[in-house]
Amino acid sequence: MIYLDYSATTPTNEEVLNTFVKTSRDFIGNPNSLHSLGVQAKKLMNKATEQLANLLHIKAEELIYTSGATEANNLAIKGIIGKYPNRGKQIITTPLEHSSVLEPLNKLEKNGYHIRYVKLNEDGTVNMEHLKQLLDEEDTILVSIAMVSSELGIVQPINKIGELIKKYPKCFFHSDITQALGKIPVSLECVDLASFSAHKFYGIKGIGGLVKKDKVELEPLFDGGHSTTIYRSGTPALALIVSLAKALRLALETMNLTYVKQLNQEIQTTVQKIPQVFINSTSKSIPHILNISVYGVKPETLLHALEGHQIYISTMTACSSDKAESLAVKTVTHNKENATSSIRISLSVYTTKKEVEEFLSTFQSLVEKLRLNG
Ligand code: PMP
Repeated sequence: MIYLDYSATTPTNEEVLNTFVKTSRDFIGNPNSLHSLGVQAKKLMNKATEQLANLLHIKAEELIYTSGATEANNLAIKGIIGKYPNRGKQIITTPLEHSSVLEPLNKLEKNGYHIRYVKLNEDGTVNMEHLKQLLDEEDTILVSIAMVSSELGIVQPINKIGELIKKYPKCFFHSDITQALGKIPVSLECVDLASFSAHKFYGIKGIGGLVKKDKVELEPLFDGGHSTTIYRSGTPALALIVSLAKALRLALETMNLTYVKQLNQEIQTTVQKIPQVFINSTSKSIPHILNISVYGVKPETLLHALEGHQIYISTMTACSSDKAESLAVKTVTHNKENATSSIRISLSVYTTKKEVEEFLSTFQSLVEKLRLNG
């Protein structure tokens, strides 16, 4: 099998899985129980939270555990709007965001909020001049911009954006760092809120977090009282929390941008030689995500043909694959055909050169064959 869909999800690291099993087995208490089993569980939970806080360069109190990034994005957006209902009605975002950001915003638009999409430069990064024009001292309550976009892998200048937003004291800055964490260096110095998910860095599906700087208040999504924080109720998922800390530590230790860049470059060099194949990712994309358009072959047909050879890629993101046209690709390339024919190849430090070579030779012959048949 050649797995090239790491941005949809990653296989769970064996050590992380062992940590989950061992913690589940050895720590049966609820960390909120007052007896010794609870105290032991809480001690372990606090240790894991401290470790995560150190890895993220934040305070332990600034981490809210969630079920993943979808919940974290919803909590960030709805939590701010719920807590500060009279602050302003304008929210700024980009067309590159994940559906778990865009859909809550669409809903808010129906409830009287104004959603503004900032213009992007040729390379897909935020046009800072336009962002400046959009920011309204009285009316902008939130800016939500992902550090790395999931379909094209475009890295946004988060620190620059955060510095600018600091000049607007009534505005909060949320960044979805789901596709960045564990792949590229991440600094959370200039953000108020940041969402992430363990399963994107070899952790277990079902845990993630929202970083919430201590000056920010949020209205919880669920009412149920204090758990690890007042912002998210429910019995703390101790084994998931401990395995999240392990997964992040291991991912940060094994990060290797230079190696993934080499793999990406090899794919780009070869696919660019095939007629009517276009690279949609830009010079600002992370090497882990390569989005390309193959004219004359339906993306789904190509996906399933590759699957026939046990090679796994994505058409758009796994979460939006029911839609025919990619908004992100259309926005960046200004080309409808690219937007309806895009596929995403996503790489990892665990991808081997041999896998890339095998993928490329199968890809080349399949594209040729499918075009002949089509
Ligand atoms: N944001 C981004 C940028 C993502 O890529 C994803 C996963 N596709 C999510 C949010 C949702 O994450 P989760 O699966 O943890 O809900």
